[in-house]
Amino acid sequence: QVETLKAKLLEQAQEISRLRSELGGTDAEKHRDLLAAENERLRQEMKACEGELRELQRQQQAPCRDCPHLQENAGLQEQLSQLQREAEETRAKLVELDLEVQQKTNRLAEVELRLKDSLAERAEEEERLSRRLRDSQETIASLKSQPQQIKYIIKTVEVESAKVKQALCETQSRNQYLQEQVGMQKQVLKEMEQQLQSSQKTEAQLRAQIMMYEAELERAHGQMLEEMQAMEEEKNHAIEEAFSRAQVEMKAVHENLAGVRTNLLTLQPALRTLTHDYNSLKRQVRDFPLLLQETLRSARAEISQAIEEVHSTNRELLRKYRRELQLRKKCHNELVRLKGNIRVFGRVRPITKEDGEGPEAANAVTFDADDDAVLYLLHKGKQVSFELDKVFPPQASQEEVGATNHTAGVRGRGSHLLLTLPCLPQVFQEVQALVTSCIDGYNVCIFAYGQTGAGKTYTMEGTAANPGINQRALQLLFSEVRGKAADWDYAITVSAAEIYNEALRDLLGKEPQEKLEIKLCPDGSGQLYVPGLTEFRVQSVEDINKVFEFGHIKRVTECTNLNEHSSRSHALLIVTVRGLDRSTGLRTTGKLNLVDLAGSERVGRSGAEGSRLREAQHINKSLSALGDVIYALRSRQGHVPFRNSKLTYLLQDSLSGDSKTLMMVQVSPAEKNTSETLCSLKFAERVRSVELGPVSRKAELGSWPSQEHLEVLKTVMGESPGSAAPPCRGHASPSPGQLSSRSASIRRKLQTSG
Ligand code: ADP
Ligand code: MG
Repeated sequence: QVETLKAKLLEQAQEISRLRSELGGTDAEKHRDLLAAENERLRQEMKACEGELRELQRQQQAPCRDCPHLQENAGLQEQLSQLQREAEETRAKLVELDLEVQQKTNRLAEVELRLKDSLAERAEEEERLSRRLRDSQETIASLKSQPQQIKYIIKTVEVESAKVKQALCETQSRNQYLQEQVGMQKQVLKEMEQQLQSSQKTEAQLRAQIMMYEAELERAHGQMLEEMQAMEEEKNHAIEEAFSRAQVEMKAVHENLAGVRTNLLTLQPALRTLTHDYNSLKRQVRDFPLLLQETLRSARAEISQAIEEVHSTNRELLRKYRRELQLRKKCHNELVRLKGNIRVFGRVRPITKEDGEGPEAANAVTFDADDDAVLYLLHKGKQVSFELDKVFPPQASQEEVGATNHTAGVRGRGSHLLLTLPCLPQVFQEVQALVTSCIDGYNVCIFAYGQTGAGKTYTMEGTAANPGINQRALQLLFSEVRGKAADWDYAITVSAAEIYNEALRDLLGKEPQEKLEIKLCPDGSGQLYVPGLTEFRVQSVEDINKVFEFGHIKRVTECTNLNEHSSRSHALLIVTVRGLDRSTGLRTTGKLNLVDLAGSERVGRSGAEGSRLREAQHINKSLSALGDVIYALRSRQGHVPFRNSKLTYLLQDSLSGDSKTLMMVQVSPAEKNTSETLCSLKFAERVRSVELGPVSRKAELGSWPSQEHLEVLKTVMGESPGSAAPPCRGHASPSPGQLSSRSASIRRKLQTSG
């Protein structure tokens, strides 16, 4: 052991020395050194290259165009870049190598550490070995004193043989015990054999018994077979019996069946008829909807045919109605024309508180009970009669003005009664006709003439509770326009103006004091217009009322000793109605002039001075100019002095030829006013009979020659003696002979032109 340990120690020492030498010059270190040297070399090379590069750059900086060295330079540059690339590569390699070196160094450190560890281990081992060596030497020394101990072992053996003897004795005694046991067992065996014999005996006994049982079993079996046979026989018997009984029953059933069959035979025809009935019913049911549809269809067809018929009749009726309406209008216009285009009505206002009391306020006006166009004035003891188109007594109210029969008693009972009377409210009808004409494109004037306080404003404007002609006319205008809205587009505009001291002023304008001029339309139509006159587009009576209120404020009213609120100017409300027939494109323009004239009293009586006097003079001048114009028109003079006053000049186109005029002459019935009343009534009579000539319509489709027109209408109106037939039977079948072919064709034209 000592030898081996020594050898191991030596080995270890050798190993240590080898490791040490390894440490001194490992391959890695060598490699590293080598790499470092190469590195250094490459660095130097690079430096040299950089120097070269700098040189080259300097050379390049020198301005040398077309230098022969250029090519060389390029080559060099290429070389340079290659070198740079190489340098780059080398640098990368260097970095790689550095990394490797680092790794190697790390590994070296690791190895050194390991070496140190193993050295320590070795030292430990050495120590351990030397300790063991020491132990071993001690053991060797102790082993040298061992022979004494062996003697002792021999003695021990001797002692042990005595022990064996004792064991032998024990074993012998045990043997004896076992033999005794064997004897006992033999005895037990003998007993057992005896037992066996006895059991064999019982077995024989049992066998005999079994035999006995078997015999008995066989006997029982035989008995059972017999019983079975008997039962079989019994069964067969029962079956036979049942069969015979079933046969009997079967026969009865058969008999029954036969009965049922006969029954069935009788039922079959009934069933057949029933099925037949059912089928026919079914067919009927199936056919029913078709039938129903058929019936419905025919009924529907009948109904639609009936409706169609009714429709066509309706259409026909409507057509006829329209035609009649047109005809009626024509007739009416002609009637108006025949009556004269200037209609003159007289209206006598009631005696009022302002008239005072006594003989001064006595009534000087009486009426003819039979003629509503005649009026008598008691003037200076003489009764003068005047005939106008119509005279309205004091009792006539605003809306009912113009009932034919105006006895005081009837009139006094109020409007309800009068409205139920079969008389026509003529003023209103007249106004209505004028409004209709205006919509149709005619120019219309409605004047209120009379001395101050005779009721001009009352008749034209009325009061809020009891409006006058203005309001009613406009209401009518709007309702007519609404009625025609299906075919026509209407634009209604209003202007309000006054003529004061021969100056025309706009009552709706922003500058009411501004004097306006009347000019001829530059389009050559002969129409007059007032530049700067404000026009308001209105769509309802409310709009108109607003316009009235607005205009009213500006009206010049002054106090005279005749009436507290006397108008010293002519007030004009001009309503222009422009229509467009959507289907034919026909355009119409009608003007409705509603004029509240200034008081007609003579200057001397009003006691006016200065400016009042001038006002009165202007008024009188314009009123007499109006009379002159009407007179000239009536007498068909070549020259009509329209230009003598602003009023006639402004109303020129509404007074001349194709226009309609309504003059409402207002008079006071009071005794003290008789001279003025006389003047007014004279004026009325003078203008009444003025013939304005045939009415023509301001429509762009043209107008009819008056003579032809008149002739046609006379024919249509049934003026031919003895013609009881209605004026027209319809366009499609004019009764031959009644109308000459020429007038019939003209009438057709009229109807189609509307
Ligand atoms: P003008 O305008 O002609 O000067 P007004 O219309 O102002 O006259 O009438 C003068 C007065 O007579 C007013 O108080 C008015 O109410 C009254 N008057 C005029 N006509 C009638 C009439 N038909 N019924 C009742 N009062 C009337
Ligand atoms: Mg007045």
